[in-house]
Amino acid sequence: MEDVWIMDSGCSRHMTGHRKWFSSLNPMSTKEYITFGDNDQRKVLGVRSVSLSAKLCLREVAFVQNLGFNLVSVSQLLDEGFEVHFKKGACCVLDAEKTLVCTLLPFGQVFRVDLISVSGPARCLVASPSANIWKWHRRLGHLSFDLLVRLSSMGLIRGLPKLRAEKDLVCHPCRHGKMVAASHIPVSQVMTSYPGELLHMDTVGPAQVASVNGKWYVLVIVDDFSRFSWVFFMEFKDEAFGFVLDLVLRLRNESHKAMRAIRSDNSGEFRNSRFENFCRDLGLEHQFSSPHTPPKNGVVERKNRTLVEIVRTMLNEHRTPRRFWAEAVNTACYIANRIFLRAFLRKTSYELRFGRQPSVKHLRAFGCRCFVLKKAGHLDKFESPCLDGIFLGYASSSRVFRVRILEAKQVVETCEVSFDETMPCTTPVFELSGDDEEGTPSLKIRKVQMMLVMQEPLSRLQLLPPLLWALMMMEDPCLRLPPHSPDSKLKQRLDPLRTQGR
Ligand SMILES: [Zn+2]
Repeated sequence: MEDVWIMDSGCSRHMTGHRKWFSSLNPMSTKEYITFGDNDQRKVLGVRSVSLSAKLCLREVAFVQNLGFNLVSVSQLLDEGFEVHFKKGACCVLDAEKTLVCTLLPFGQVFRVDLISVSGPARCLVASPSANIWKWHRRLGHLSFDLLVRLSSMGLIRGLPKLRAEKDLVCHPCRHGKMVAASHIPVSQVMTSYPGELLHMDTVGPAQVASVNGKWYVLVIVDDFSRFSWVFFMEFKDEAFGFVLDLVLRLRNESHKAMRAIRSDNSGEFRNSRFENFCRDLGLEHQFSSPHTPPKNGVVERKNRTLVEIVRTMLNEHRTPRRFWAEAVNTACYIANRIFLRAFLRKTSYELRFGRQPSVKHLRAFGCRCFVLKKAGHLDKFESPCLDGIFLGYASSSRVFRVRILEAKQVVETCEVSFDETMPCTTPVFELSGDDEEGTPSLKIRKVQMMLVMQEPLSRLQLLPPLLWALMMMEDPCLRLPPHSPDSKLKQRLDPLRTQGR
């Protein structure tokens, strides 16, 4: 409870029992005690301001001996000129200019301000008990809430905490990013008996926009047994052969079990003499799916669709420029290998391939803002020690993050980075627009869309009682609906191939 502040209409002053909330504290010159409901008296060890957010600073907070809670006193807030509005299901605090300072949501019988998931100083913070499930939903490529809860209860992934099912969770990027219809019936039986026995492959593209590295196509390869996948990016489709060759040789080196076959469709990049000779030399059977029965190649097609959905949702969430589609595809594949299970085997693809459970501790929300520590020696005293960046996924080897440094317009791989994973509507929106000839974007910071000072899903916000919602909209001109409105551009994105290409 030390990170949770509870709104209390009964207490006479703000108080906490946790020393960590004070940057400094002078001993009291006089003896002061606070009397609790059960006549218990506790000593006040000091009094000082506590900053809960950029907008909400609590003045004269008492540091009370052996107190297990952090309490925000309603009467003291009113004395300081704030307005506090309670409604069923929500509570909000406005300052003297009627600007929304803080919103709180019910927690049992009380309202709480939760600071547990806040990184960095001067940031607020209101989170509901569902903050955790949102965090992991976004970090794991917007995995459906049901699956996420089930997965978290199975104990198959290291670093994934147990998550509780919540009602009424609606994620806007998911709404716009995910398709409804399923075209192929999933195969639940395991037709192969070990990893690397049969590889499915397919190409996707061309993209509508070249990736930052000038690629237009993706080659997706899926191992039949584990469903572990690889993605490779190509300028031309016929580069597929080189990637398949490398991977097949690598897998043959890794395992003593023989690869039996590869499976693809009939398109020219797979049906050619190079593939024919290669398969003959290695004793591989090359199976082709008939153009009229696509389900024959259904494994890789389903994987493509899953990846496309994750990519579209992740790119939409932070409005990451479409030129970064390859980074998003790479990240989607990285996540998918760690979280998707072969139901019959009750193991993730990662565990089936490597024989150990995957860890997701290091995963962060794709496209979020981040701050990269500058190298020592390049700093002068007054310069910021950090560079602003956009988080673009994971390096293929070791736990290193890929970050687009905004100022330098280049992607770097680094571990010295901190993340701001707040929902995009609560932080300034960085819009990279106008590709110039080198493909380097100019940076514009759009009007800051400070939605509410809270880390809370918009859906929840919109579920507030209509009156309160209307009140907030009227009183705070900064309040905006999320950028995820179903405009025509979003509708265009429903074409998977086009989306894949962005
Ligand atoms: Zn989502």
